[in-house]
Amino acid sequence: MSGTSEQVSVLIVGAGAAGLAAAIDLADRGLAPVVVERRAGPATHPRATALTAGTMAQMARWGIEAEVRRLGFASRHAMSIRQSLTGPEIHCVPFDDHVWTCAQDHLEAALARRARAAGAEIRYGATLASLYPAAGGMLATVTGPDGHQPVIEAQYVIGADGARSTVRQYCGITTGRASDFGHWLSILFHAPLREHISGAPFMVYRIENPAAGGGVLVPTDATTRWIHGLAWDPEQGEHTEDFTSHRCAELIRAAAGIPDLPVEIIDVRTFHMTAALADTYRAGRAILVGDAAHVFPPTSGMGLNLALHDATVAARILAITIVDGDEPSALDEYEQACRPLAEQLLAPDLAAT
Ligand SMILES: Cc1cc2nc3c(=O)[nH]c(=O)nc-3n(C[C@H](O)[C@H](O)[C@H](O)COP(=O)(O)OP(=O)(O)OC[C@H]3O[C@@H](n4cnc5c(N)ncnc54)[C@H](O)[C@@H]3O)c2cc1C
Repeated sequence: MSGTSEQVSVLIVGAGAAGLAAAIDLADRGLAPVVVERRAGPATHPRATALTAGTMAQMARWGIEAEVRRLGFASRHAMSIRQSLTGPEIHCVPFDDHVWTCAQDHLEAALARRARAAGAEIRYGATLASLYPAAGGMLATVTGPDGHQPVIEAQYVIGADGARSTVRQYCGITTGRASDFGHWLSILFHAPLREHISGAPFMVYRIENPAAGGGVLVPTDATTRWIHGLAWDPEQGEHTEDFTSHRCAELIRAAAGIPDLPVEIIDVRTFHMTAALADTYRAGRAILVGDAAHVFPPTSGMGLNLALHDATVAARILAITIVDGDEPSALDEYEQACRPLAEQLLAPDLAAT
């Protein structure tokens, strides 16, 4: 492959949890991966918070369990269903697998530090613009922060680029099985809600009160940062601009059941709640990990946890494939190891719509 500006053994697209986890395990095996990430910098608006025992065991293996415990916080491992945060509990749903709480942005910061220390390179503001197979590798065009589009020649590519994976699209991998659970808002805010809770907070509070917009309240740190997640409906004429800071604060006060709660809105994001499973995890020299391979609705609390698991299995098998000079088909072992569990866990969500 000639005329390329750079050669790497593994190009990882996406510096979310899956991409960073793969980067750590490849770098620990001496493969110096390059990670390209569309965002200008690390994430600041968390999504996942609930980590499983398997994820915490992985943090211990990487030597960052103490850091993840320090960045996170103790919680009650369950979802409490109420009319408001301060109202009486209607029902409690235990989370059997989830053992620790750490907001995804804080977790990813720890993963990025660990990946860099191991020798991975993370390039922010770098978007995969095209990807094609070439003899003995793949050619990727990446648009950098300055608009330049260097070509990277990679022996292998890991698509860790989330639910709308560009790698998946360039590889022609379809998601034949998918469900749609509608449009949601994630309102990130500060409020002194812990002052109104006795003991540790629950991992999630589900609010059964239409006046509050329903949805969930989720603590994201040990102080005042929370998320209010709620459904909205652009097809019924709602616009994101309708959710002003004033209206968001009123919705949060109603969900909390505290009319005079001081609220500072940090950020409001939209997301589409879906479930999906890629029809295959590999096309030639590209493999998919995390949400690029399978999307879980947040209610399962499994997307990030399984993304980390996939990435570590994929990195181990990829490193062996590269070192032993095996054919790309050796990577099918990754799909055989990881896809059945995703399929089993996603079955109820994929049957839902
Ligand atoms: C509200 C909410 C709550 C959740 N709660 C939980 C929970 O409690 N527990 C749990 O396990 N899971 C939870 N999840 C799911 C979890 O957030 C995802 O499964 C997880 O983020 C998947 O990680 P990932 O690295 O595969 O993908 P992502 O986190 O989506 O990362 C993909 C990265 O790729 C980058 N990218 C995309 N395209 C390109 C491109 N062309 N070039 C370069 N970079 C690109 C993106 O910018 C992004 O940073 C939740 C999700 C939501 C929405």
